[in-house]
Amino acid sequence: MDIQKVGVIGAGQMGNGIAHVFALAGYDVEMTDISREALDAAVSLIASNLDRQVAREKISAEDREAALKRISTTMELPKLGSTDLVIEAATERESVKTAIFEDLVPHLKPNTILTSNTSSISITRLASRTDRPEKFMGFHFMNPVPIMQLVELIRGIATDEDTYQSCLSVVDRLGKTAASAEDFPAFIVNRILMPMINEAVYTLYEGVGSVKSIDSAMKLGTNHPMGPLELADFIGLDTCLAIMNVLHDGLADTKYRPCPLLTKYVEAGWLGRKAQRGFYDYRGDEPVPTR
Ligand code: NAD
Repeated sequence: MDIQKVGVIGAGQMGNGIAHVFALAGYDVEMTDISREALDAAVSLIASNLDRQVAREKISAEDREAALKRISTTMELPKLGSTDLVIEAATERESVKTAIFEDLVPHLKPNTILTSNTSSISITRLASRTDRPEKFMGFHFMNPVPIMQLVELIRGIATDEDTYQSCLSVVDRLGKTAASAEDFPAFIVNRILMPMINEAVYTLYEGVGSVKSIDSAMKLGTNHPMGPLELADFIGLDTCLAIMNVLHDGLADTKYRPCPLLTKYVEAGWLGRKAQRGFYDYRGDEPVPTR
């Protein structure tokens, strides 16, 4: 299938990165969000991230201009009706995503491929809420999108081969690498990563280590570029909690129970970097551990 125009739903941390890489690869992008501020912030963030790529000589100033021109924003979901591929990257809550699909589907062309960037929710179940389960799949980018090489491609039970092959070619044109995952809770990356982050929060909760000692231990002891708590703040603690709940519910195993301390941080609104506070406080010049 010839894909030229791409719709991105949600202009948060992931949506802005997704719009960025598609525009740079030559696709026209229509980005939507329920918040005008989120759309404006996403466009200025894309502009400054492109600036950084120009400064590092990864792209030319002409590439930057051309990419920015290819991005339009709208608060009207039906405007995505003219796109060939949609990537939904709204908040990680199933009710939010299904409501979006139900509103969007009547406006789509029959051949448009519909995908979700969900980190953990069943692709088969999301697909069943649309009119095109065979043209629905998981298109899971990593954060930060312009930098991370991997895209997990997840086929639902009904996804057809043409849809999968079309998405595979898109990943290729983006200059990224695909890994195929079966549709089980949290797929591959988060099935392995989130229990580690959750265990780091238990280690903090039980007083085995402080924020600083846990992150240093994992950075220096296992050569991870970021400590697990620093990484949790980067991903967003609400997203981490949502993924642990999906693992816990979907696999019905107590080993996936979310740490009560993670729940407490989310209830406090201390969601990590995006809220300026999580396991670290980002409001000053240097991040300061909050425990
Ligand atoms: P975020 O909180 O930064 O952004 C979510 C955006 O969705 C917000 O701007 C919000 O206004 C918007 N939104 C909410 N309801 C909407 C609606 N009905 N219509 C349009 N927009 C709506 O979240 P994020 O980190 O960008 O995550 C988005 C998705 O990407 C989630 O499914 C998440 O699991 C997935 N994901 C996140 C990461 C990560 O590291 N944060 C990595 C891979 C995948």
